[in-house]
Amino acid sequence: MLRVSQIEKYYGSKNNVTKALDRVSFDVENGEFIAIMGASGSGKTTLLNCISTIDSVSAGNVYLDSENISEIPEEKLARFRREKLGFVFQDFNLLDTLTIEENIAITLTINEYPPEQVKEKVRSVARQLGIDDILSKFPYQVSGGQKQRCACARAMVFGQSLILADEPTGALDSKSSKNLLELMGKINRENGTTILMVTHDAFSASYAHRIIFLKDGRLFNELYHGDKPRRE
Ligand code: ADP
Ligand code: ADP
Repeated sequence: MLRVSQIEKYYGSKNNVTKALDRVSFDVENGEFIAIMGASGSGKTTLLNCISTIDSVSAGNVYLDSENISEIPEEKLARFRREKLGFVFQDFNLLDTLTIEENIAITLTINEYPPEQVKEKVRSVARQLGIDDILSKFPYQVSGGQKQRCACARAMVFGQSLILADEPTGALDSKSSKNLLELMGKINRENGTTILMVTHDAFSASYAHRIIFLKDGRLFNELYHGDKPRRE
């Protein structure tokens, strides 16, 4: 469903060019949980940003469900991202002035979903992620782990088929990290959501079905967890 084909990304101009991605290709099946690893500066975030259309590729193509995403017109990009993609960042990216419930609901609200449907959907994902008891709180009133579970809820509430997570456990302690990774695994198994997660730690990566290693902007290795069934 996701096809990354020979993508290249250059930053800078003539005299000072950085090649951040160099002919990177791989396919991701629906329902796969993939970790992207590599040293700092190896191109992990650039790869995620090129897939999410936050950044444009210099060469090559990214296809999502056979649609070439670099050909989506600018005015349709925001809607494409909201409907198809869920984003989870290291620093949560929640809106401080909104409650947890409103943060989760934001994509539905922007898309003018009927309020009663929004409430129902938000409650159902919040229940799945174990944060249904904090919906009326504000982000500053809850723990890091709870904030990140809220970000995950927001990333899936619209029925997005692909979650892009950039160091989702980077700001969490080990207990909250484990809890979050288990929940991401559950979302992946129960909802069939495809997950692409950038991480530099092997513990996080061990939750994925496949680990893609980047080095100097190139895909230099892939590792499969043969003993880990995709669905339980
Ligand atoms: P990683 O996420 O693996 O740490 P990045 O994707 O952030 O790596 O960066 C890959 C390379 O591209 C690095 O050499 C980085 O300095 C460079 N780079 C990333 N973003 C920019 C940018 N906006 N402008 C210039 N160079 C950039
Ligand atoms: P999690 O595993 O979700 O991160 P913690 O074990 O860190 O949860 O937190 C347990 C409880 O402590 C939470 O229910 C939360 O209400 C409270 N808590 C933790 N950190 C904070 C914080 N920074 N501000 C307010 N409450 C917090």
